[in-house]
Amino acid sequence: MAKPKVFVFAPADPTGEAHKMLEDAGCELILGDASWDTPQGNSEAQMIRLTDGCDAMMGTSIRSTPITQRIMQASKNLRIVAKFTIGVDDVDVDAATELGILVTHGPAESNWGGVAEGTITNMLTLLKKTRERDRYLKSTDGWRDMALQGTYVGGRASDGYPGIVIGIIGLGRIGSRVAKLMRPWGMKMIGYDPYVSDSKFEEFGVERVHDLSVLLRQSDVVTLHVVLTKETRHMIGAPQFAMMKPSAILINTSRGHCVDEKALIEALQAQKIAGAACDVFENEPLPADSPLRKMDERVLLSPHMVSSNVGSGLKPGLLWATRSVIAALKGEVPDNVYNKEVISQWESRFGGKSVL
Ligand code: NAD
Repeated sequence: MAKPKVFVFAPADPTGEAHKMLEDAGCELILGDASWDTPQGNSEAQMIRLTDGCDAMMGTSIRSTPITQRIMQASKNLRIVAKFTIGVDDVDVDAATELGILVTHGPAESNWGGVAEGTITNMLTLLKKTRERDRYLKSTDGWRDMALQGTYVGGRASDGYPGIVIGIIGLGRIGSRVAKLMRPWGMKMIGYDPYVSDSKFEEFGVERVHDLSVLLRQSDVVTLHVVLTKETRHMIGAPQFAMMKPSAILINTSRGHCVDEKALIEALQAQKIAGAACDVFENEPLPADSPLRKMDERVLLSPHMVSSNVGSGLKPGLLWATRSVIAALKGEVPDNVYNKEVISQWESRFGGKSVL
């Protein structure tokens, strides 16, 4: 029997452990050009050629060439597209479902917990003027300056100061972890997520709002934790910036396309909002000539690696994806299927049929 082929369209396996697991299981690996540090990979035409005859595809995020219907159609044997990351917005999931292909993802705590920690770090860095204070001492002979005063974030029992209002959009894994970590500070947290239960809001101490505009008008910090869908694409644009307080800041660690970046730049330039922290962008890597790169300390940028920490980061997601590929090649349904609605169709095609 010919070896099953696995096309790793965006490899991210510095130790080689995952690739070895696949080779030991009897797979032939085909490696694409994209990688974790450069999410620009092969063209669609190249991807179609590389996918031809493959049984599985896997990889981290690929921004230049999303996994389209045309790519997945290139192999009749294709059983699974396994992402190492949480997001599957670079895979045409509807097309995969139509074609009877499993899409799996890797919601590992090292990843989503890392995003929550990084979100809070960015929020506090902006609110406490951490960089401004440091730069002031290093670049002047000065000492204290009232312009360097930060924002008191939490509530205070001593004088009844209620603290700021944090508005969380999307109360999933990351949004609820942000709420859990911030709750002891004692500020007010409000949240907008039409798809989770009232009990989840109660569990995490977040007051539910049913209208996004209420959250935008009331919040001092607006933090985005939604998945990228047709509904959430550009959910924050010019009309939403117009509703925000001029003193408010926006944190985006979800997906670049959830925010209309042009409108964000205009809102910052016109001082419609006070600041923004962005880990994700509409075009990644962020173009060298993006006005965001030229902005002052009101803007805090990171290269889509807010969740990347020594000893954690992608690795658990990579190993999870590897196990999922091996399971699918054995004819078994993995435990992290994103498009669950495809499972019965998939089982009738591949269930119990091993190619290993
Ligand atoms: P999740 O699926 O657990 O949570 C997403 C939440 O968004 C869900 O509760 C869902 O109900 C909610 N939602 C969907 N549509 C909505 C809408 N229209 N309005 C309000 N809420 C809506 O996902 P997660 O693991 O918490 O990840 C959240 C985001 O973070 C995703 O976009 C993911 O891709 C991104 N992410 C970024 C990084 C990074 O490195 N920056 C790493 C991991 C995940």
